[in-house]
Amino acid sequence: MSVMWTVKAVGLGVVALSLSVELLGWLQRRLRPGKTLNEVLIFPSELACVERIFNPSSSYTCLCPFPHGVESSFSRLLRYILSASSSLDLCVFAFSNMDLGRAVLALHSRGVTVRVLTDKDYAAIPGSQIGALRKAGICVRCSAGSVYMHHKFAVVDGQLLITGSLNWTLAAVQGNMENVVVTEEPDLLRPFIKEFHRLWLCNDRAQNYRSGDQKPAHHQNP
Ligand code: ZN
Repeated sequence: MSVMWTVKAVGLGVVALSLSVELLGWLQRRLRPGKTLNEVLIFPSELACVERIFNPSSSYTCLCPFPHGVESSFSRLLRYILSASSSLDLCVFAFSNMDLGRAVLALHSRGVTVRVLTDKDYAAIPGSQIGALRKAGICVRCSAGSVYMHHKFAVVDGQLLITGSLNWTLAAVQGNMENVVVTEEPDLLRPFIKEFHRLWLCNDRAQNYRSGDQKPAHHQNP
């Protein structure tokens, strides 16, 4: 008798277990329809021509000396940035990479809303792309605090987070050992969106001047 009960109990346990596994799977599919994008890019990137990314037309032939048709960490990064269709929020300490500058300018001229937050001290270094972005009419705000604005992240269309150790410089892309995580995970995305919003507001120069204490003496009538 007791053996039969044990068999029955084990049988019930197996049924319960398989049901809960199914339920978990169902919940997962329900919460995450489709596969969430997650990718890690390791730098330095393989040296390769990225002209094709800017000129996808098949009739275009590039004559530069770099390898063509090679997918590298840098080409992946460029593709993710250029995938923006409505907005790009960029928060980066140093920005001097010309290809990345070109990508951001291309988005702006395509009508994508671009906002750039950068560090005040590094915005003015030789080769900085910040001047060119401003000249093109892109909204740039500089963090003017006593500590570095050392973030290196971008949010594409409010849905894709690109973050890691990589500054947007040539040295970082081609020389340094760096990492970049590209993810659509909402739990990771949310704090970055929140932080961008916070930094964007607290580095609004017009707001700061209006509040009084940071108004420079030579700008009495802004
Ligand atoms: Zn080329």
